[in-house]
Amino acid sequence: MDQVELSPKDKLGQLHDLVSAQNRELVEKLENALQSAGQEFSLDYLQAGEINIGNKMIRFSFMLSGERENKNWQEYLSEDFAESIVKALERIKKSSDDPLFVDEIVVTNINFANPNSGEPVNGVTLTNMENTAQNSIVLFANAFSSVDYRGEVPGVSHLEGTVTHEYGHCLDNAFGADLRKMWVERLPWQYDEESDTFSYNGDDQDFVTTYARVSPTEDLAESYALYLLDKEKLAEVSPKRKEFFDAFFAS
Ligand SMILES: [Zn+2]
Repeated sequence: MDQVELSPKDKLGQLHDLVSAQNRELVEKLENALQSAGQEFSLDYLQAGEINIGNKMIRFSFMLSGERENKNWQEYLSEDFAESIVKALERIKKSSDDPLFVDEIVVTNINFANPNSGEPVNGVTLTNMENTAQNSIVLFANAFSSVDYRGEVPGVSHLEGTVTHEYGHCLDNAFGADLRKMWVERLPWQYDEESDTFSYNGDDQDFVTTYARVSPTEDLAESYALYLLDKEKLAEVSPKRKEFFDAFFAS
């Protein structure tokens, strides 16, 4: 197969000016999520086009709050940041023969604080209710802060880490109950029916980041991200988790 590989920068050339588009379901989902966290926003949904990643067209959209003065998407996202997103998606594509399980990247200009911890949220993966295979990764303003990737891999930015983490949730959605079941069976996560929560009965040192302790789902997404970004490091921190993904990708 002869295929011309475009650089991330060239792929961004496939994007155009922001145009208003309809996606009420997604807008409402995000507005509701923000509202339930006590944050009121009215969002405008716009599309900048699509990017080809491994022969799959991924929508590139914006959900903006406030007055818009410019139609140029780069007013709301620098080309460097956009390139990092493309780079992260291409790395994900390269890791597996499956088509990408993400359909859209949505950039927002708002800050969203986790109602429980007060911490700024980097991203969230929203799934189309009628079709669980339709995943949109929403990136909040904090995803574009200049801190290092929390998995601490030299040369990997916080934004690449965030996109890869969110893709872990897309994978989780795509393989659904099976993947999650395998994960909690292989690792010492224990479900408590009464409180409907999970607790961890293993060594705390096994977690790739502090955030991974939150739940089996976040543990999976954080571990997936480190697997893609630095497999050797994951093998050092948690051989079990590294073996889990080795087996998953081999099957
Ligand atoms: Zn997450």
